[in-house]
Amino acid sequence: MAHITTVTLKRTGAKMPLVGFGLWKVTKETCAQTVYNAIKEGYRLFDSALDYGNEKEAGEGLARAIKDGLVKREDVWITSKLWNTYHEKERVEEGIKTSLKLWGLDYFDLYLVHFPISLEYISPETKFPQEWWGLDGKIHPINVPFQETWAEIEKLVDNGLAKNIGLSNAQGSLIFDVHRYARIEPQVLQVELHPYLTQEPLVKYCKLIGLAITAYSSFGPQSYVELGYQGATSLMEHDTVTAIASKNQKTPAQILLRWALQQGLAVIPKSNNHERLVQNLQSVDFELSEDEMKSISSLNKNLRLNDPVDLDPRLGIFA
Ligand code: NAP
Repeated sequence: MAHITTVTLKRTGAKMPLVGFGLWKVTKETCAQTVYNAIKEGYRLFDSALDYGNEKEAGEGLARAIKDGLVKREDVWITSKLWNTYHEKERVEEGIKTSLKLWGLDYFDLYLVHFPISLEYISPETKFPQEWWGLDGKIHPINVPFQETWAEIEKLVDNGLAKNIGLSNAQGSLIFDVHRYARIEPQVLQVELHPYLTQEPLVKYCKLIGLAITAYSSFGPQSYVELGYQGATSLMEHDTVTAIASKNQKTPAQILLRWALQQGLAVIPKSNNHERLVQNLQSVDFELSEDEMKSISSLNKNLRLNDPVDLDPRLGIFA
């Protein structure tokens, strides 16, 4: 049986690879070489953001891969995201152009609004990446309606800077609202999604309206351990996952990725380790049984690891 490796986006018909490489927390020093190696191993999608602070290095890796004839620009899918400090109408184009310049590209295949949260502008010359905090160490939300930002995001399609546009960290009510005024509907929603946070109603709603989903943090708590998280049992070590892994002769990581892929979701695992990077790409060519899918889904406990409310109680976008 031929395995599906792309998802076709509704508006443009563009084929987005289902397995990509996530660049958050990929160290600056290794980023160029990691991107180069990932391309060599077969990755064709890179998920970046201005906030990750490594777009320049990622672009260097891509440029070298193109120069060495491994790929052409049109063979790779590059996603980036508008940071929170660029939501005002006069800032959106500056946001994407800053990322494009760092990558050394003239368009992104997909451009997402990173969070539905607008923060006071800080120039990249003053602080880079701008992150959540102002120069005084405090968070400064500003009043920009999402509709204002979205109208500018649509213009990025008109002027060719983004082929596809979408949302990140949005829930049903915002998606519903955007569809009331969108001239160009979002094509992709990128959200935290793993067996501890299965988000079934959101997945169902997005399927209904033709909004493709990219699941981030597919390994659940794993990604947050390096940030100091010490909560729930690692999904990689959970009995349910390890039993299914040994039965299928796959690693727990491959099982977690396959569980998402088999629901039609795209994934973007990150690894600073070459062997794991290769292993993660090999998650499309096997099938989990219906029972295995169900038992993994039953691990859900609505555990959200990436919630801005933990930084500031005013940022309750998932409340
Ligand atoms: P992730 O890919 O779920 O997990 C990464 C963690 O798992 C790292 O600690 C990594 O360690 C480890 N790991 C990777 N492959 C492994 C394997 N095969 N076996 C064992 N451990 C493995 O987490 P993530 O980085 O949070 O999410 C992925 C991507 O989603 C990000 O890089 C970013 O592009 C995107 N993202 C987007 C948002 C958003 O707000 N839109 C938020 C978070 C993430 P090593 O590096 O040591 O292998």
